Amino acid sequence: MNEKINLAERLSQIEPSPTLAVNAKAKALRAKGADVLNFSVGEPDFGTPEWVCAAGKRAIDDGFTRYTPVPGIVELREEIVKNYAAEHGWNYTPDQVQVSCGGKHGLYNMAQALFGPGDEVLVLAPYWVSYPAIIMLAGARPVIVPLSEDKNFDLDPEILKQYVTDRTRGIIINSPSNPTGSVLSLDSLGAIAAMARENNWVVISDDIYDTIYYADGMPSHILDADPGLTDQVMILNGVSKSYAMTGWRIGYALGPAHIIAAMNKIQSQSTSNPSSVAQKAALAAVAGGHDFAAMMTVAFRERLDYLLGEFAAMDGVTCVEPIGAFYVFPNFSAYYGRKAGERRIDGSVAMSEYLLDEALLATVPGAAFGSDAHVRFSFATSMDVLQQGMVRLKKALAAFNPG
Ligand code: PMP
Ligand code: GLU
Repeated sequence: MNEKINLAERLSQIEPSPTLAVNAKAKALRAKGADVLNFSVGEPDFGTPEWVCAAGKRAIDDGFTRYTPVPGIVELREEIVKNYAAEHGWNYTPDQVQVSCGGKHGLYNMAQALFGPGDEVLVLAPYWVSYPAIIMLAGARPVIVPLSEDKNFDLDPEILKQYVTDRTRGIIINSPSNPTGSVLSLDSLGAIAAMARENNWVVISDDIYDTIYYADGMPSHILDADPGLTDQVMILNGVSKSYAMTGWRIGYALGPAHIIAAMNKIQSQSTSNPSSVAQKAALAAVAGGHDFAAMMTVAFRERLDYLLGEFAAMDGVTCVEPIGAFYVFPNFSAYYGRKAGERRIDGSVAMSEYLLDEALLATVPGAAFGSDAHVRFSFATSMDVLQQGMVRLKKALAAFNPG
């Protein structure tokens, strides 16, 4: 096709989401008949609970099919506020909540409302693929701060300090993390809170995996470390992971009312509101508590234990034990620089390509998360698929020439 029309300059900086790209490739290969095992995308393999679907159907039958208020229906925002008060003791009001078209869109609205050219935003690596792109689409600069695998991907505050400049406007944290499943300790969160206070940063806390947690209770939060920091904290959450509702596209943000109002201005001029029907389904979901997430977490834990056992028995593979979410992030760097047959594997992209071409295993290269030593496997897939996958992985690794 003749590409006569130039695209906007900002597009030159970003790539399509690599997680969604690998998922699309795996699905296309499967559609052509290839027996691909898909460990790429992070979405629960469980169906949306029946009672949530029923609420969506009821919304359609009741004719609840028109525009809703820009920030989302008030019943949903009230329910979210009620839950935060009951579970954490944090007191928000409905005008401090925005419901958006998925958590990803909530982050997008936040970045558009908060950041612009000249601003720097700290992103801890390994990071979720969309953070840098969302920051860049706002015209700001993501500043990547490496976490250490030796510290189970917890933060070393001394390292964080090295990346701070007078242009730093904020930090994004994600605990439990996609892709590592690791959590930030209360001490690290305390150090981040102290620096945020000192430098007047906004802390964006992406809590989308907070109900998929393998330790007791809930993961530590920046507001546990510093309950008085609410003026500087933006919480991001949603129903995609906790209620297996990825396709319904409902996320929500909580924070200072003037920031939520700014996000509403952006939403009013872009999507208007998230789907009315999906909001009713999300209302049923969040009013339904965490039993469903707890049920999924038991299944995920069993799969995780199986995978950790398998990785531990593989030569040259190490893996930090995840504490939440449904990803493992094994380190394959011992294989880099070596050949499998005629193919030289020089990093995570080559490794993921090799696993897809030769073993029909779809994974996401660590480079997409800012960590080339690793490859991400989502274990939101059945035990049977995981077992077949591990047989294939062992065979693919055994095909490497001695290092
Ligand atoms: N944050 C993280 C870390 C994620 O992995 C995801 C998953 N896509 C999201 C936010 C947003 O999810 P959604 O847009 O489906 O709510
Ligand atoms: N968060 C999921 C993942 O990392 C879904 C895909 C995406 O939105 O990036 O696989």
